[in-house]
Amino acid sequence: MKSPVYFDYAATTPVDPRVLEAMLPYFSENFGNPSSVHRLGQRAEAVLETARETISSALNCRADEVIFTSCGSESDNLALRGTAFAQREKTGANWILCSRAEHPAVSKTAMQLEKLHGFQVEWLDVDETGMVTPAALEKAVCDKTALVSVMAANNEFGTVNPIPELAAICRAQGIPFHSDAVQAAAYLDVNVQRLGVDLLSLGAHKFYGPKGVGALYVRKGMGLIPHLTGGGQEFGLRAGTQNIPLIVGLAESLRLAVAERGARTAHLRPLRDKIIGSVLESVSGSRLTGHLESRLPNHASFVFKNADGNLLLQLLDATGFACSSGSACKTGNPEPSEAVTSLGFSRDWALGSLRVTLGASTAPADVENFLQTLPGLVEKARVLKFG
Ligand SMILES: *Cc1c(COP(=O)(O)O)cnc(C)c1O
Repeated sequence: MKSPVYFDYAATTPVDPRVLEAMLPYFSENFGNPSSVHRLGQRAEAVLETARETISSALNCRADEVIFTSCGSESDNLALRGTAFAQREKTGANWILCSRAEHPAVSKTAMQLEKLHGFQVEWLDVDETGMVTPAALEKAVCDKTALVSVMAANNEFGTVNPIPELAAICRAQGIPFHSDAVQAAAYLDVNVQRLGVDLLSLGAHKFYGPKGVGALYVRKGMGLIPHLTGGGQEFGLRAGTQNIPLIVGLAESLRLAVAERGARTAHLRPLRDKIIGSVLESVSGSRLTGHLESRLPNHASFVFKNADGNLLLQLLDATGFACSSGSACKTGNPEPSEAVTSLGFSRDWALGSLRVTLGASTAPADVENFLQTLPGLVEKARVLKFG
């Protein structure tokens, strides 16, 4: 059987060969600990700081505002925990505002801060396109708000939020604003000055970098309280010997993402639009999830009424297409995704979700074959469920 067509770039991406090549020397030749005093350590330290500068020029910030972490999830955790505790200490504020469609790395962290640490979470509704509107945020913030977290682009339904407008509302009231850009960084502007954010999360494996490494932009003066204590690495905000090869991979993959953003978008956007147009036309009882225009250029996502989304994924896999449902749930989980439900879809729609995300290896012929195959499989996923 030929290898499946990969339509799940929002879940993860393969490491770009150029990125892998940049990483290789730091596993065994140039392996020093950047905190060591000797020459081998100093060489590692120089590599670490070069990587930090590469990231800071992509983000348009100072090098000492970039904190390396072990993944996008850890970046979100450090942003929320570090800010929540620091703000409560400074001002007594104990409300956390975050959108209903956040990734679990944000939403579960907020829930734990509420359950175990005395914070209160207010969930910001999204509109039917999955967007957090400036009006909704304006109404929700108050002098008890310790922090606001709204993702730049949604992983499940692709909607891009108006981050500059949202951040400006918080800035005007002196409230720290965090944005999870783990999904967005592959295609969208990550200039933190233009975005106006105080904290921004990145994860390398969503833009052709390695898994297990991320970064958090922390605006100078935020005074975060570290959640991983120990040595003084990362300006005292994240203890642990830095993983130099992975950090080099993160820096190189982000550099390439910024340099090639236009070309990557130009390749994928027409293919995405073709999928959206064709699916809505050829599959009865289908709806787009997320925003039609303000969405990631590689991201198409749908719900199919009265279809079993997990079954559809299995049928697609058996036919040679690796897709995902809107949710991160494993096969067999009977609950619809909270992010898709937050769009207002009832259970009979939300259970039939499909996410098709494109990337470097996507060819027009793959899209063509997929569009030929899908309508029949959706019908099958309906018949088998209700027949
Ligand atoms: C993938 C993802 C994460 C988690 O990143 P990891 O590096 O896998 O921990 C967080 N937020 C969003 C929006 C994501 O897409």
